[in-house]
Amino acid sequence: KSLPYFSRGEVIRGFGRGSKELGIPTANFPDAVVDNLPADMGTGIYFGWACVGNGDVYKMVMSIGWNPYYKNTKKSMETHVIHTFKEDFYGEILSVVMVGYIRPERSYSSLEALIEAINNDIEEAKMKLELPEHLKLRDDNFFTSAP
Ligand code: ADP
Ligand code: MG
Repeated sequence: KSLPYFSRGEVIRGFGRGSKELGIPTANFPDAVVDNLPADMGTGIYFGWACVGNGDVYKMVMSIGWNPYYKNTKKSMETHVIHTFKEDFYGEILSVVMVGYIRPERSYSSLEALIEAINNDIEEAKMKLELPEHLKLRDDNFFTSAP
């Protein structure tokens, strides 16, 4: 199994699919980072820890999905950090560790249903990350040695 999975890369611009307008901004990784994902890392929603630059480590949820830009032949990785930042952080280095899997990708009948699902994911992530086995990864060297 590939979890926990550590990953780091520059935050790039996504397609502006309006995640921020939904109140759920997602920081996108460049192709090179996504290409490094193990083949068995399936699409869906993951949870874990994240830090921007050498800032604090926060809880996060990540969506691994099929990237429409590449006609759904390539994956994308989008991280929502569970924290309110004062400013955007495009161009900064985002470090993440994915520690668990929440659910597969689904399509939703309405925007409201989608937002509700994401908010449920966030609540599940917050709760599961309090388990000692997951909490210990927050203090991993990987974050203290962030570039
Ligand atoms: P894009 O399509 O460019 O990814 P989004 O609407 O998804 O646009 O917004 C993502 C951007 O919002 C991130 O790249 C980051 O700079 C900023 N941002 C602010 N707060 C957060 C957060 N809590 N989690 C993720 N990104 C955030
Ligand atoms: Mg995004």
